[in-house]
Parts: sequence; C-alpha cells; structure tokens
Amino acid sequence: MHRPFSVTTAAGVRIDADLWFRCYGVVPLSDMLHGELAAARRPDGHVEVDEHLRVAGASNVFAVGDVTAVPEPKRSKAASEHAAVVAANIRALAAGRPAEQTYRPGEDAVLVPLGSTGGASQVPGPEGPMVLGAAETVRYKGDDLLLGRFAELFGTSA
Ligand SMILES: Cc1cc2nc3c(=O)[nH]c(=O)nc-3n(C[C@H](O)[C@H](O)[C@H](O)COP(=O)(O)OP(=O)(O)OC[C@H]3O[C@@H](n4cnc5c(N)ncnc54)[C@H](O)[C@@H]3O)c2cc1C
Repeated sequence: MHRPFSVTTAAGVRIDADLWFRCYGVVPLSDMLHGELAAARRPDGHVEVDEHLRVAGASNVFAVGDVTAVPEPKRSKAASEHAAVVAANIRALAAGRPAEQTYRPGEDAVLVPLGSTGGASQVPGPEGPMVLGAAETVRYKGDDLLLGRFAELFGTSA
C-alpha cells in the first residue's frame, strides 16, 4: 500500500509510515525429500542440519539456504555463506578427510536500495546496529545489485 498509514504495535508503540509491504513469511519447499532425508524435515518444512550443514542423519548430504533450520533470518547473504562452508566440506570429504568447516550465523544486516541512487541500510556496528544512508547503500549494493561480486565468483563478465 503506497499511502501514509499508522499502526500500533502489540507493545503500544505507534508507527507512522508512507509505504506498507504485506509480508507472509517463508514456507520451505522440502516435501520432495524421501527416506532418511525425510526424517530431517521439521513440521514447518525446514531441514535439520548439524554445524557442518550436513542434513541430520545423513553423513554426506548437505543443505544450504532458506530450507535449512538454522535459526537466522533467511537471506541470500546467509545462503552464500552456507555455500562456502558446504563447498569446503565436500572438498574435504572428496579428499578423504572429515567435514571440517562449521557454520555460525553472522550478525544481521539489511540493505535496501531504492533504484541505483537511493536507499538505506542497517548493519552491525561497534555499539550495535547502525543505519547507513543512500551513498553507502549504493556503494555496497544499489550500484550493480551485487552483479560484479557474483561475476567475479563465477568467472564471468558482469
Ligand atoms: C521478495 C524477496 C526479497 C528478498 N530480498 C532479499 C535481499 O534484499 N537480500 C537478501 O539477502 N535476501 C533477500 N531475500 C531472500 C533471498 O531471496 C533468499 O534467502 C535466497 O534466495 C535463498 O536462496 P536459496 O537458494 O536457499 O533458495 P531459492 O533462491 O528460493 O532457490 C530455491 C530454488 O529451488 C527450486 N526448487 C524448489 N523445489 C524444487 C524441486 N522439487 N526441484 C528442483 N528445484 C526446486 C526453486 O524453483 C528455486 O529456484 C528476498 C526474498 C524475497 C522473497
């Protein structure tokens, strides 16, 4: 909804804003899992993993991203960090070593670009979360929406 509105939170705090996004949460698609993998599926669809991101009860199957039951906000930043841990662990298994890398959720950050020149962000700071303005948001994300970073990762030109 794009018009001024007000809400009052359960704690009685009134919030006035100009734009309202209705959000319905995330429902993981994991009902395709069968056999031993199905046992790792929670009732809400998230898949239980250990600290190496191995699917619970399966020593050589890993899960990354939103589908994992890791208690953290479901974001692409987390999914990318899962991928790095899992890639290292698969390399270790392939070399005959045990899975070595563990995953711990990082601090939360939200970058909200508005076009290629605007936006705002909330990132971890030395004394808790801090807000960044448009210039920093553009520099971190809005300028190319991270295409450059992923082009470098996959060895393609942006
Ligand atoms: C509107 C919106 C805005 C977002 N904005 C941000 C943001 O600004 N920053 C941020 O960090 N994160 C953001 N996120 C979250 C981010 O998109 C997810 O955390 C991220 O995409 C998770 O990656 P994933 O690979 O786990 O899942 P997905 O990206 O959902 O990929 C799962 C893939 O599996 C496919 N699939 C499903 N079932 C099957 C099947 N049976 N067989 C084969 N393929 C299947 C799906 O089609 C999909 O392509 C946003 C999400 C939404 C919905």
